[in-house]
Amino acid sequence: MQLSDNRYHLSNGVDPLALVEKYGTPLYVYDTAHIERQYKRLAGAFNVPRLHINYACKANTNINILKQLKNLGAGLDAVSIQEVELGIMAGFAPQSITFTPNSVSLDEIKLALNFGVRINIDNISILEQFGMEHPEVMVGIRINPHIMAGGNTKISTGHIDSKFGISIHQLPHVFKVIETTGIKIDGLHMHTGSDILDANAFLLAADILMNTASNFKYLEYIDFGSGFKVPYKDDDIETDIEEVGERISERFNQFCKEYGRELTLVFEPGKFLVSQAGYFFVKATVVKPTPSTVFIGVDSGLNHLIRPMMYGSYHRIENISYPQGKPRFYTVVGNICETDTFGSNRKIASVEEGDVLCMFNAGAYGFSMASNYNSRFRPAEVMVHEGKDYLIRKRETMQDILRNQVEVKFEEAVSAGE
Ligand SMILES: *Cc1c(COP(=O)(O)O)cnc(C)c1O
Repeated sequence: MQLSDNRYHLSNGVDPLALVEKYGTPLYVYDTAHIERQYKRLAGAFNVPRLHINYACKANTNINILKQLKNLGAGLDAVSIQEVELGIMAGFAPQSITFTPNSVSLDEIKLALNFGVRINIDNISILEQFGMEHPEVMVGIRINPHIMAGGNTKISTGHIDSKFGISIHQLPHVFKVIETTGIKIDGLHMHTGSDILDANAFLLAADILMNTASNFKYLEYIDFGSGFKVPYKDDDIETDIEEVGERISERFNQFCKEYGRELTLVFEPGKFLVSQAGYFFVKATVVKPTPSTVFIGVDSGLNHLIRPMMYGSYHRIENISYPQGKPRFYTVVGNICETDTFGSNRKIASVEEGDVLCMFNAGAYGFSMASNYNSRFRPAEVMVHEGKDYLIRKRETMQDILRNQVEVKFEEAVSAGE
C-alpha cells in the first residue's frame, strides 16, 4: 500500500477507505498484484531445469487465493486432508499437491492417496505401516537436518527436539524400512521453520539434504521447504532470495549431474507469497489515556489476528484515516477479555475514535488462524484484483456462531410432589 498526497492506495489506485466504507470493519483485504510480484520474483530467482513452487496454503486458505496461485503456475502444499480437498476444489491437479502432514493417522494418509496427491511422510512408524500396505506407491519423506533456524522457537522446526520430520540420525532405520517393505522414496523434503534470516543457515541445511539424497535411488524431487523471511518493518532484513536462488541452483545442478538424473527443485513458501499482500483494517473504538500509556482499543482482537500475541510478531500499524496527523505513541489493543496487544508504544499519526487503522503483513496466518473467541464474528475478506474489489468471504453472523450448536430441550425443573 502506497502513501501519496496523504492518502493510502492499493494497487491500481484502489482506495482502502472506500473498501472499509463498503464492507465495514474489521476487514481483511488482499491485493493480488503483490502475490503475483512475489511469485514471479521467486520463480525468477532459480536457474534450474525443473522448478516447482508449492504454495503452503495454511497461510491463507481462501479458495480465491488458491486459484490465483494456481493461475500463476504454483502447486500446493497441504498439511491436512481438508487442505488437500480445498486444493482439489480450487482446481489443482492432484499431482501438483503435496500432502505434508505431521502427527496424522495412517487413515488420513490413505485418504490423501485416494485423492491421488503426492504424499510426504514425516515419521518412521507411518512410513513402515504405509509401506507394508502400499509398497507400489512412491512417497517422499521429511528429513529433519537439525539446523537451528527461524525467528522464534514456536515456528522453528529443524532443531533437535522438534516434533517435525525424521531425524537425519535415524536414516539407517529408514533404509531398513525401505528394504523390508519395498517402498520407494521419490522425494526428500525439509522445512526448517519460518523466518530464516541467514542465507548461510539455509544453504547449510540444503547441503545436508543433498548429501543425504545421494543415498536414495528413485528420487524425483528435492523439496527445500520454506522459511523465507519477509520484511515487517522498514529496516527489516529480508531473505535475499536472489542470493539463495543463485547459490542453491548452482549446487542443485551440480548435484543432479552427480546423481545422474534431472530432479525437480521444490519450494513451498506461504508467508513469502501472501503476507505483504494482506492488510487488516480495524476501527479505533476507544482512545484511553492512562498514567502509563495511551491505549487505542479497536474493534478486533486476538480472535482475528493472533500472531502478535502468539509469537510476538510485529505488524506495522498506521492510521489511514489521517496519515498527516501529528505522530504520537500508542499501545494498540483488542476488545477480547484477555490481554491482546497488537503493538506497544507505536508511533502512529494522532488517532481519534472512529479512525481506521491498518495492520500490515496480514495476508499470512491472519484469517486462517482466526477464531470465534468471545463469540465474535470472524471478519469479511476482500480481494483487490486488477483495480476491482471482490468480496471473497462474508462477515459472519449469529447463525455462524450457532451453526453446530445443538440446543437440548431439557425438562423444566419439576417440583417435588407434582
Ligand atoms: C508452514 C509450512 C510452510 C510455509 O512456511 P512459511 O514460513 O509461511 O513460508 C512450508 N512447508 C511446510 C511443511 C509448512 O508446514
